[in-house]
Amino acid sequence: MAYCNQMSVPKINITLKRGSVWLAGAGPGDPGLLTLHAVNGLHQADIIVYDALVSKEILKLANPSAALEFAGKRGGKPSPKQVDISLRLIHLARKNKRVLRLKGGDPFVFGRGGEEATALYDAGIPFRIIPGITSGIGGLAYAGIPLTHRDTNHAVTLVTGHDAVGGISTIDWASISKSAPVIVIYMAIKHLESIVNSLLSAGRKHDEPMAIVSNASLPNQFVLETSLGSCMQDSQNSRVKAPSIVVIGPVVNFRNMLNWLSEVPKPIGEVETLADFKTKQVG
Ligand code: SAH
Repeated sequence: MAYCNQMSVPKINITLKRGSVWLAGAGPGDPGLLTLHAVNGLHQADIIVYDALVSKEILKLANPSAALEFAGKRGGKPSPKQVDISLRLIHLARKNKRVLRLKGGDPFVFGRGGEEATALYDAGIPFRIIPGITSGIGGLAYAGIPLTHRDTNHAVTLVTGHDAVGGISTIDWASISKSAPVIVIYMAIKHLESIVNSLLSAGRKHDEPMAIVSNASLPNQFVLETSLGSCMQDSQNSRVKAPSIVVIGPVVNFRNMLNWLSEVPKPIGEVETLADFKTKQVG
């Protein structure tokens, strides 16, 4: 591994070859959450085909000579069909371009990356997968919510609130309700009421902690801390908006201590091991 002059990050010596595609995750939005492989792809690509969830700050890292091609939903218009995006990637690779396909979060987590990669495979196009930080993990970390904690849960369930065509998901919410101590829901807002009702009628408690994190890791990040029973009311007139990630379960309570992004000074805790520190600070 060598060091590149223009960047203070290690340069990875892997070449994005002509006629091939890198299918990369851009993380939830903060450019600092990009992988070195993704940055390397941004610097090398002739063309970057990006989704709506890829932030402007990230696109600014592209090589200035790269063409930027939007492949997401714009201004209420329907999204381009998945098959057309896959065909476009194949077409560009066959034109001998170095193609970076950049998607929000991780390309293989509710991101249709698997569909695009299999299309490339079928077409005989060489490709590389670059994982990204998924919003359901990294986005929640930016809200001070750990996905697991030994005191609360040994499992976590990631689930989508939509089916493939945007309808209400056919997921067995009653089973999830019984088996998952912590539930992280992507694309939850459209059908939130129905999802919440399914979970409540399957036995989850009204006062179960819940958080909705909008624009996680971006400058306009907003976190609504609520409960399963109050979330519909609380989210109205709040700054909850797309994209939002939902988490339900006891891990939400850790935010009281772990909300590291907050500028509000933290009180010195009553934890025994901090006693000396507290004495020094106060007295
Ligand atoms: N591949 C992506 C998920 C794409 S599905 C990933 O790994 O994160 C789109 C959903 O992801 C959104 O509806 C929302 O639930 C979630 N999401 C993506 N980016 C987000 C962000 N910055 N803040 C909150 N939720 C986000």
